[in-house]
Amino acid sequence: MKFSQKIMSVEPSATLAITSKAKSLLASGEDVVILAAGEPDFDTPEEIKEAAIKAVKEGKTKYTPASGTLSLKEAICRKLKEDNGLEYKPANIIVSNGAKHTIYNVLQAICNSGDEVVVIHPFWLSYPEMVKLAGGEPRVLKTDIANGYRATAQDIEKTITDKTKAVIINSPSNPAGVVYSEEELKEIAEVCTEKNIIMISDEIYEKIIFDGKKHFSVAKSSDKAKELTVVVNGVSKSHSMTGWRIGYMAGKEEIAGIVATLQSHSTSNPSSISQAAAEKALTSENLPSIVEENKSLFQKRRDALYSLLEKEDKIRPYLPQGAFYMFCDISKCGLDSMTFSKRLLEEAKVAVIPGGPFGEDSSIRVSFATDLANIEKGINRIKDWIKTL
Ligand code: PMP
Ligand code: GLU
Repeated sequence: MKFSQKIMSVEPSATLAITSKAKSLLASGEDVVILAAGEPDFDTPEEIKEAAIKAVKEGKTKYTPASGTLSLKEAICRKLKEDNGLEYKPANIIVSNGAKHTIYNVLQAICNSGDEVVVIHPFWLSYPEMVKLAGGEPRVLKTDIANGYRATAQDIEKTITDKTKAVIINSPSNPAGVVYSEEELKEIAEVCTEKNIIMISDEIYEKIIFDGKKHFSVAKSSDKAKELTVVVNGVSKSHSMTGWRIGYMAGKEEIAGIVATLQSHSTSNPSSISQAAAEKALTSENLPSIVEENKSLFQKRRDALYSLLEKEDKIRPYLPQGAFYMFCDISKCGLDSMTFSKRLLEEAKVAVIPGGPFGEDSSIRVSFATDLANIEKGINRIKDWIKTL
């Protein structure tokens, strides 16, 4: 059987594959410590679950408009106004099956064959693959640990060519936890607006930011920046709702309409029940305090993990300012990231994600979306195992 060249050019998601392998080892009784998870370990808040049950009981079990219910779109508009100072109307909003689906749709909507999309390294591993699936070409902007894995506006300007269609901005970022300041984002927006480049702003980790830093959406930089930005967000990470699959975009009506058409012929609406649950997540007065509490717990875990690793000779951790991952340079261990992660899982029973699929083969990603005892147990195993190399 011959398959599509496009699909054959992409790699399966290593984050999902490794996490599910580690979970099945754990389920089969192996004493595995999982430091690979790309999702909060907290349960979805009770109030959200109740809203879903109520939706089922009230018969909200039918198709909704393909791009999402009006009441959820209105709740998203209020969220964007209150949290980000951004004014949108429901016609600017599209609700999809998770932020991953949202980004996929947006790339499908904007890319023509050969169009370049700038992706900042180390990047969330799905970005380049989704660009390729849209017929575009990922153009990787390399950063390094010495500069805090940051891309400046000048770096972006140098990476843009006459084929560049868009830049993906991800703050806080996965895998390095980089948080860009308002000033940095305004400079980036200036470069993009001058050259008419679309900014896809993936803000999924917005609510997990440490040390009192504040999230800023690049769309807020100027009126022109807002016109050129597609804001992507969702409830997966903020409200521990990864399995419910609700993400959304906010952008110009023109692009929202195109994405709505695409969605109407591909997935139709995201689950009506999940939409009701997401609406509760965005509107309940009790939930912001839970989101805050989770953020403080993540910060405590980040600090604990960093102090366990910072004196380790052969591992150089990068202190994240947001999200729940620590990107660690392992070049002194003398193994590429895939071999390191594979052997670590087999020999020491600790699951981490290799940096290779994120564009950085001399690093691994350690997740701290797990409790302190697990973090300590896993890191002690890693330290002992490294001594055997
Ligand atoms: N963006 C980034 C940077 C992510 O790490 C993830 C991980 N899931 C997503 C988007 C997609 O999230 P969702 O579960 O809402 O599809
Ligand atoms: N985004 C998470 C991660 O990077 C979840 C898995 C995925 O969707 O890639 O681990």
